[in-house]
Parts: sequence; structure tokens; C-alpha cells
Amino acid sequence: MQSINPALNSLIGEYPAHSAAETEAIVELVWQAGHSWKDKGFEYRAGLFRKLAGLLRDEKDRLSRLMTAEMGKILRESVAEIEKCAHACDYYSEHAESMLKDEVIPSDASRSLVAFEPLGLVLAVMPWNFPFWQVFRFAAPSLMAGNVAVLKHASNVPGCALAIEELFTRAGFPENVFRTLMIPSAMVKAVIENPRVRAVTLTGSGPAGSSVASAAAKQIKKAVLELGGSDAFIVLEDADIEKAIRVAVTGRMLNQGQSCIAAKRFIVVEPVLEEFTLGLLKAVSGLKTGDPLDPSTDVGPLARPDLVDDIDKQIQRSVGEGALLICGGKRPILPGCYYQPTILGNVRKGMAVYHEETFGPVFSIIPVKSEEEAIAVANDSEFGLGGCVWTKDLKRGERLARKIETGAMFVNGLTKSDPRLPFGGIKKSGYGRELATYGIREFVNIKTIWIG
Ligand code: NAP
Repeated sequence: MQSINPALNSLIGEYPAHSAAETEAIVELVWQAGHSWKDKGFEYRAGLFRKLAGLLRDEKDRLSRLMTAEMGKILRESVAEIEKCAHACDYYSEHAESMLKDEVIPSDASRSLVAFEPLGLVLAVMPWNFPFWQVFRFAAPSLMAGNVAVLKHASNVPGCALAIEELFTRAGFPENVFRTLMIPSAMVKAVIENPRVRAVTLTGSGPAGSSVASAAAKQIKKAVLELGGSDAFIVLEDADIEKAIRVAVTGRMLNQGQSCIAAKRFIVVEPVLEEFTLGLLKAVSGLKTGDPLDPSTDVGPLARPDLVDDIDKQIQRSVGEGALLICGGKRPILPGCYYQPTILGNVRKGMAVYHEETFGPVFSIIPVKSEEEAIAVANDSEFGLGGCVWTKDLKRGERLARKIETGAMFVNGLTKSDPRLPFGGIKKSGYGRELATYGIREFVNIKTIWIG
């Protein structure tokens, strides 16, 4: 498996892949490790996750450089990602036990209760865009609940996949409680079919989700899907426009726009359309594109050459369909997988960027006449992951938030994930939840115990 630096299009390293027989042997070892892991107390598991958090913090420089080298994220975002993983480890160390404590429920029994027991071995199929965070936000709650796990990471971040496995080992986790499978996506189905595997979680694109969920359904195994999004960023006439622009740039440009919960459709009411557009243009024009390791860089490369081709085609198609190219729309003259931050105005129904997920640095501005039209446009999407609304009237903001069909809505704030709050989507953004109590309960047996 190859690791290629997208800032330079240069080979970083090559790693041996696991054969089908090696994969099966690893799954067997992890399954066996699960027997004793599930009986260890919360305190024991919490101690290990606290050590893991410490290792992440101590080695954040090395780990963030690895992440930046493999997928191009600018260095300060890589550092923040590692810190977030450490926080999730600490959070679940502290709260997993209370999240999973027995619930006594009065019934006709002398005592009846609900217990939360681990399911066993969970397969995690993960994407490259947050190579550490996506793994930790699954692994911390799932392992704290007493499950064991195998990770099939995205093929372009093999170095991160192995580094994560090594961190678990060095933190002192028992052997084989968490293992990385170095396999291509074509081998995932066989892992799902392995009787030792009890459930699967996938974060990635719709086609991958559909394929994994079908394989899991065929085996009657639980699946959680965290898929794409096309989040609405609704700007109403009473918004703090300056703040909205600042957050719009942060929200869209994080990870060069390669985030499932990035703001993707900027739905702006006409009275503030010009002010918002001009302010956005000024802010975007000030962004510095370049080496992701340079602290002054705001925009690094996309993760792979094919992703640059995809975003360019979506932009050119939309311009052909009548979108107004306000800035960008080209590859800059740089050696790696770069794309200019792009603003498209006058985006309308029927255009590519109105309907499709755009996984890159493109702002699509959709003008609307009213709040009602803003809601209708926001909901006119096959996705339903996150979104935000900007208004100084907080009651109005909450009212709108309730009308948008997504897994999360933020009023006057950046859409983000937080271990305290559930995360996940509806419609083609997937099903199931990660994080918070809802996330840790996805991979447990919710068991009724009735005593006469
Ligand atoms: P992807 O191509 O679907 O890959 C994600 C993972 O699935 C990778 O490990 C990939 O392995 C594997 N995979 C791909 N096709 C598969 C198949 N048919 N069967 C089994 N496994 C398969 O997605 P991506 O391009 O890496 O990530 C971008 C997508 O993920 C976007 O749509 C984004 O919105 C979504 N995403 C969602 C969330 C969320 O929480 N909702 C978070 C981050 C990203 P290979 O690399 O070996 O192909």
C-alpha cells in the first residue's frame, strides 16, 4: 500500500498489505482478545485510555506531521485533530461507566432492568479526511464499552492506520484488542461475512456505505453509517454578517473543504446577498495557499489528484449550467494537488453544486427571497447531516433549526462534532449516531433482565 504526499505528489512510503489468510488470522486473534477484554472493569479500561490520551498529547508533533504528509491537511489543523482525539479518550474514560450503567425499570417483576453489554468484535471502515479523529471517535466509546475492533482505514493513509495501532500497543492495551487490517476495500465484504465480526461502522461515501450496509444486512449484522453531507449555511437579513462570513470561511475551508460537515450550500436572503458575497470574496482573497507545513498557510492541497479532478469538473459543469464564477475555478501553478478557493454565485436548482456534495474549497451561494424559501432550499437535498442558521433572533434561529431535516443544526455557530453531543445524519447522510451516550450505545446489546 502506498502513501503519497499530495503537496508534492511524491512517494512517502510503501507498506505490505495483508493477504486474505493474514486478515482472517488477525480477526481470529482480535476475537479471542475480546473474551477477557469485555470482563475487565471500566476502571481498567479508563486507565488505558488515559495513557493513550497522554501519548497522543506527548507525540502530537510527530503524529500531526505524519497526517499532514499523507493527506495534506494544514499542520495547525492536524495538531488540533490530535488534541481532539486525546480529549475524546479522556471524555470516555470519565463517562463511559455512567453512560452504560444498568437502568432499573419498574414492571411486573420483583426487579427488572436494562443492562448494556458489548457486542464483541466491531469492524471500522474509515476515511482519510480526518485520519485520526474518525478512528478515535469510534474506538474510544466502543472499546470503553468492552468491544474489540479491527480497523480498515482508507488506502491513502496507511501510515496513520499503523501509527494508531502502534499507539494502542504502546499505551499498554492487551495484545489484539485493536488491530489495523491493511486491506483494500474489495476485501471488506469477506471481513463482514466472517462470523467473528458482530457489527460494522463505516464513515465515507454513499456508494461505500451502501455496499457495506448491504453486506452487513445479508449477515444480519448491525451497521452504523456516517456518510456525505451538503450542509446548508443559512444567512438571514438580521444576521451578524461579519461573524457569519468569518465562520463561513472557517467552516468551508477546514481541511480544504474536505469535511462531511463543511458548510457547502450558502443560502442567503436577498437583502444581505451583496454584503455577504462581497465580504466573503474579500476574506477568501486573503487566504494563502501553499505548503501545509508552513504555519502561515491557510489552504493546503487536496488529498489526492482524482479529488482535484472531481471538484474541477463539478465547478466547470455548474458554470456551464449558469453559475457565476466569482473567484477561483482553477488549479494554481503549484506542483501538488492544489485547487484555488472558489466562489460560485447565482447557484440554482438543477446545477451540479446545488445537488451534489462538493468535497473541496468551493462556496456555492444560493440566493433566496425569504425565510420560507431558505428552509425549502435547505431541505431540497438528498443529504441530511448538519447545517447552521445565522440570525440575531435566537428564537427564530431555534424555530428554523427545528425545520431543517438534518442530524444537527447550529444557530450562529460553526457546525462541529463534540464528544458530549450526538453526531450523525439522516437521509443519504446515513444512520446511527456517534459520540455522546447515543454513540456508545450503538455497539452494545441493550439487554432486558426480568426477575420474578
Ligand atoms: P470512500 O471512498 O467511501 O472511503 C471511505 C472508506 O470506505 C475507505 O476506507 C475506503 O477504502 C472504504 N470503501 C470504499 N468503497 C468501499 C466498498 N465498496 N466497500 C467497502 N469499503 C469501501 O470515502 P472517502 O472519499 O474516503 O471520504 C469522503 C466521503 O466520506 C465524503 O462523502 C464525506 O462526506 C464522507 N464523510 C462522512 C463523515 C461523517 O461523519 N458523516 C465524516 C467524514 C467523511 P479505500 O480507501 O481502500 O477505497
